[in-house]
Amino acid sequence: MSSSTLVLPPPEVVAKYEPVIGLEVHVQLATQTKIFCGCPTSFGAPPNTNVCPVCLGLPGALPVLSRQSVEMAIRAALALNCQVRPVSRFARKNYFYPDLPKGYQISQYDQPVAENGSVEIVVDGNAKRIGITRVHMEDDAGKSIHEGFRDSDRYTYVDLNRCGTPLIEIVSEPDMRSSEEAHAFLTELKHLLQWVEVSTCDMEKGHLRCDANVSVRRHGAPQFGTKAEVKNLNSFRFLKMALDYEIARQIALIESGGSVEQETRLFNPDTGETAGMRSKEHAHDYRYFPEPDLAPLRISQDWLSRVESEMPELPNRRRERFLAEYGIREYDVQVLTSTRALSDYYEEAASKSRDPKAAGNWVMGDLMGALKSEGKEISESPVSAANLAELVDLIASGEISGRLAKEIFQKMFATGESARAIIDREGLRQVSDTGVLDRMVDEVIANHPKQVDQYKGGKTTVLGFLIGQVMKASKGQANPGAVNELLRKKLS
Ligand code: ADP
Ligand code: ZN
Ligand code: MG
Repeated sequence: MSSSTLVLPPPEVVAKYEPVIGLEVHVQLATQTKIFCGCPTSFGAPPNTNVCPVCLGLPGALPVLSRQSVEMAIRAALALNCQVRPVSRFARKNYFYPDLPKGYQISQYDQPVAENGSVEIVVDGNAKRIGITRVHMEDDAGKSIHEGFRDSDRYTYVDLNRCGTPLIEIVSEPDMRSSEEAHAFLTELKHLLQWVEVSTCDMEKGHLRCDANVSVRRHGAPQFGTKAEVKNLNSFRFLKMALDYEIARQIALIESGGSVEQETRLFNPDTGETAGMRSKEHAHDYRYFPEPDLAPLRISQDWLSRVESEMPELPNRRRERFLAEYGIREYDVQVLTSTRALSDYYEEAASKSRDPKAAGNWVMGDLMGALKSEGKEISESPVSAANLAELVDLIASGEISGRLAKEIFQKMFATGESARAIIDREGLRQVSDTGVLDRMVDEVIANHPKQVDQYKGGKTTVLGFLIGQVMKASKGQANPGAVNELLRKKLS
C-alpha cells in the first residue's frame, strides 16, 4: 500500500476474516562457549575481542561442534515434545552481509535436529495445542552498529563478538488464530525454555527473537491466504501490536479489491505500523547445501536417554502433581509454577511440612510480598524452604499462633534464622500450658464482671472481648483456640 496511514476496517468487516499466524523464534542457547569454537559467549565484552579464526571465518579454519550446544538443543526439543532425529545435518545458508564474515550461516535445512512437537497454550480458559514443525541449530551472525559513533552518518561499525553464538530456531505450524494466541504461545515458549534452562530468553539482550508470519482468510475458506512475514518484534507488546496492525492491513487491502503480496515487512515501534522491506526470499536464493566441514550429527539412543534423564520435571506434569499431592487450588498451582525456581522452593517447603496448603499460602503471601518489597528473587530468599516448612509446622502443632507466626516470619526474613532459634532466644512460645492459661482466664473473668454478666445474659459476642483480654495478658502467646474453649467452659 502506498499510503502510510491505514484506515482501520470496521469491526463487522474484521469479523468476517480469520487470521492465521505461525511464528519463527530464534533462541540463544545459554552455553559458555560458541557453537563451533571455544570463544566465550559472554555479553558486553569489548567489540571484536571474543573472536578466533573459526568464528571470524578465516580461510582454512575448521568448525568443531560443541557438545553442550547439542545437549541444550535436545533439552529444548524435549520440552517442546519434539522427536529428536537420530541423524541430522548441518547446511550452509549462503548470503552476503558485513556482519557475516564467512559469507554463509551454518544452519540446518532438510534434516533438522528435531521435529513434530507441540506446545499447549491457554487463552480465555481454553486450552489449545500449537504444533512445532521443527527445531534446528545454527550459528548467529555478528552485529552491525549503525548509530552511536561520531561518524555514524558515514560509517557502519561491525562487532563480531556474537558470530558463532549457538542458536536454535523454533518454527511453529500456522496454528494460531489471533494475536492473543500468538502472545500466549511466545509466553509459554519462553516459560518452557527458561524452565529447562536452555536460555535466559532475555528479549532485551536479543536472546529471544521472533518473526511472525501472518495471513487472513474468510471464515470457512478452504485454503490459507498469502502470508507476510513481519520482523523486528523485540518485545511481547510489539508482537501483539504488529500482528493487530498487519491483520487489519491485510483485511483492508482485500476489502478494497487488492491482494496480499508475499513479502517481508518490518515493524516500526514508533508508528505501530509494518512496512514492506523486501519481497520474500526463497530457499533457493540461499543456495543451501550440506556443510562439508561437519560430519552428520548422530544422536544415539544412549545419549538421548542420558540428556532426558537430566531433564527437570516439566511444568504441566508438575502442575498436575501439585494439584493431586498438595491439595492446592488450580490458581495457586499456576502461581507456584510460574518459574522453575519458585516451584522448586514450594516443592521443598510443601514436602517437608505437614500442611502443604498452608505452606503455599505462606509462599504466595508473606514470602513473595517480602521478596518483592526488597526487589529480591526467590533464589535470594533469606528464609529457606526448610525453615518455612518448620514455621508452618509450629503453627499446625499449635505451638505458636498464626499471629505470632507473622511476627516470627518478619524476623526470619530479616535475619535468615530459623523460627525455632528465634522462639528460643526471645521466649516466644505459645502458652498452651493449661495451668498457666487457667490462671490467666480466671484473672480476666474476675476483672471484668460487667462483661461476664452480659455474656451470661445471652450477649455471646462479648466472648471476643474476653478472649482479647486473655491474649493481651499473655502478650499474644496464648493459644486462641484453647482460650476460647476455657472461657466457654468456665462461663457456662
Ligand atoms: P516458507 O516457505 O515461506 O519458508 P513455511 O511453510 O516454511 O514458509 O512456513 C514458515 C512459517 O510461516 C511457519 O511458521 C508457518 O507456520 C508459517 N506459515 C506458513 N504458511 C502460512 C500462512 N498461509 N499464513 C500464516 N503463516 C503461515
Ligand atoms: Zn571463535
Ligand atoms: Mg520454510
